[in-house]
Formats: sequence, C-alpha cells, structure tokens
Amino acid sequence: MANIGYIQVVRHCNHLCGFCSNPTTPYTHTFETMKVLVDDLVDRDYFGVILTGGEPTLHPELPRICRYARERGLHVRMITNGTRLADGAFARELADAGLQLVHVSIYSVRPEVEAQLRGSEGTLARALGAMDAAHAAGIEVNVNCVINKLNAAHLDENVEHYLEHHPYVRHFVWNNLDPSMGRAEVNQAQFTPRLIDFEASLHRALSLLQASGRTFRVEKVPLCYMVDFAWASTETRKIVKGEERVVHFLDAKQTVRQTDWEHIYSEACEACTLRTICGGLFDRGNGYDPRELYPVFVSRDTIVRAILEDPHDPSFRYRSLTEWQEDFDRRCHETLAGAHATRPAPHEPDERPQGERLVSVGVVTEQSRRKFEAKREAEARRARALGIAMERDVEPTEPEPPGG
Ligand code: SF4
Repeated sequence: MANIGYIQVVRHCNHLCGFCSNPTTPYTHTFETMKVLVDDLVDRDYFGVILTGGEPTLHPELPRICRYARERGLHVRMITNGTRLADGAFARELADAGLQLVHVSIYSVRPEVEAQLRGSEGTLARALGAMDAAHAAGIEVNVNCVINKLNAAHLDENVEHYLEHHPYVRHFVWNNLDPSMGRAEVNQAQFTPRLIDFEASLHRALSLLQASGRTFRVEKVPLCYMVDFAWASTETRKIVKGEERVVHFLDAKQTVRQTDWEHIYSEACEACTLRTICGGLFDRGNGYDPRELYPVFVSRDTIVRAILEDPHDPSFRYRSLTEWQEDFDRRCHETLAGAHATRPAPHEPDERPQGERLVSVGVVTEQSRRKFEAKREAEARRARALGIAMERDVEPTEPEPPGG
C-alpha cells in the first residue's frame, strides 16, 4: 500500500488565510529533528513524504531535508503557496535536492478572490509563476484547492484556466474546508461553504478534468455530493484499501496516525448504499449541517472496482472484487462497525513506539517562543486590517532544555 506521511516543516507563513487550519506555533524544527521524522516514515515502510506547513519554503533547511528524504528512498513531495517557489533558481535548487512533486495551492484564478482568501495582494501571479518554475525545473506539478465559500461557485473556472495556460498539470486535489482548527474554526461564517454551494461547480470541474484525461482526488466531500466521481474520494480510496496516514504535527498534537477518518454520519446515511465506503461528513468544527446529507442508491461494487482497477494507482493490491470483499468484511468487523457508529473522539496521538520511545516532533526553545510571540502580534495586526479573527490561543508549552 502506498502510505504517505506528512511532516510540518514550519508553522508560520507569508500569507494570512482566514481559514488556515495550521497556524503559527512556538514549535520549531532543526534539520536533526526533521531527519528523525523522515526515519520514522521509512521505518513504517511508507512510500513517500509530503513536506508541508505553514509554508515549508520558509525553512532554511528545506533543500537539505528533501535530499535526505530522497536518499532514504521516499518519494518527496511538498505543498506550497508558491510565493517563494516562483523564483526559478530556488525551484532548481529544490529539484536538484530531490523534490519530485509539488502541490501548488491556489484557491481561485480570480486575482481579487485569491488575494482576499490569502490576505495578501499579488499571490495569484506568484503561484502561477511557481507552477511554471517548478515545471521548468523538472518537478511534477499538481494543483491543490481548498473549497470554501468564496470560490464554491467557480471551481470549474479554475480548471478551464489551468487546461488552457498550464496544460502540463496532470493531477488535481480538491479539499473541502476543514472548519475544526486554527483560524478556520473562528471564521466559519466567512469561509465555510454549504455543501450545496459547491456541488454543481465541483461536478463541472471534475467533468472537465475527466474529459481532458487529468486525474484528481477530492477530500472531505461526502459521496452524495460527488456521486458520479465517488472513486476519486480520498477517504473512500483509503477505506477501500485499508490505508492509513501519519501526520507529524508541529504542535502539541505531535504525531497522529489516522486510520479512522473521524467523519460523522446522519440518519440518512443508514439507508445509503455507499455507507460502508463513504467517509461521511468531516465536521469536527460543527461548520456543516448534517441535514444536507442524503442517501444515494448506486452500486457500491462499481465504485470499488473502479478503485481496484485504477491503472494510475500503483498501490492497489487486490486483483478481484471477491478477494477485496473478504478482506473488507474482516476489517469492517474489526473497526468500522464500532468506530463509525458514533461521532469519534478528536485526533488520537500515535501510540506506535519507535524502538523504545515515540518520536518527538520539533522543539520549543526560548528563542522560538519569542519569535512566535512576535509573529503572532504581527499577524493579529494584519488580521484586524483584513477583518478576520485570529485563532484561539495555543495551549501554553514550556520551552524544552537545549538539546531536549
Ligand atoms: S448519505 Fe451519508 S453515507 Fe451516503 S453518501 Fe451521503 S454522507 Fe455518505
């Protein structure tokens, strides 16, 4: 199976999105503390790593950790807002260091909407420039998009733009907004969409991508809002294949191993033929309305077969539906029946020991705490000017002793 792990390289950013779910913390990484996390993913026999943030290009050791991860045999990827990557020399440096794939995050190809969502002017041109710079440097380019209230009605307009101006992009990732954490939690009224707001434009966007031979994944969207493309749901694919995901959070959560997708279901789901392979509604932040869910009556096996037989996915291991069904029944019996019946607890920390101990994610020092406080003050001033609320205070963390 092709498990991919996430390492949050930094938690600060040069943008100020009103729905950022992973804002600044006092935690910081050195090369050595990141190296331990790369080793952890290798020990878990993971296929690849996604370096993320905050904005990962702001860490001075990013090329070095790319090189190390590549040398350890991981497929090396990064999620970025593109502002720094638009510099061609920097893109080449990362390519030389071993970066293989970049997800450039763009919410809207309408410059004024992108600027409003990013809390910064001029970001769209830089992000589009980053796509070209990465492509010229030999890095594969994907586009990530967070679905939110301001772009919900024109997702297909984004696709039209990429197909015309950046035809080398072959893969797209759509993430419905996570209203549970960070600034997303406190700015729900401004940014959290209703499911119905994006249903039609997402369908048009995915239809365009499919017709043009592109591939795509969709996260945190219940299958009833993407039923024609249910095989592209990240959660459904992971449920079908029994995959997990490890995230090394650069905050008090530390390492989280996600095997249950922590989504919720409504009464309507009980009548739905896709219930056992649907992630349901991701709503730990109470930002969505479960009454928007409605049962669908399509063939579950057709969707499972599309996933198992996907020629673009190197991770599938079941050759037949019958073989899959036996394994799935066993897994359902063990986990899904109980874990998905009620609303699950928030993220549980990973309890898998590495040798004798858990890996620790980053450190908090006196210096990192002072920098954090200065950044947070500056961000609060920007947030006031933008009319968005700042995230709740992070839980206090004592600095660790040097080398601790
Ligand atoms: S009704 Fe529930 S189980 Fe069915 S597709 Fe919608 S969210 Fe999924």
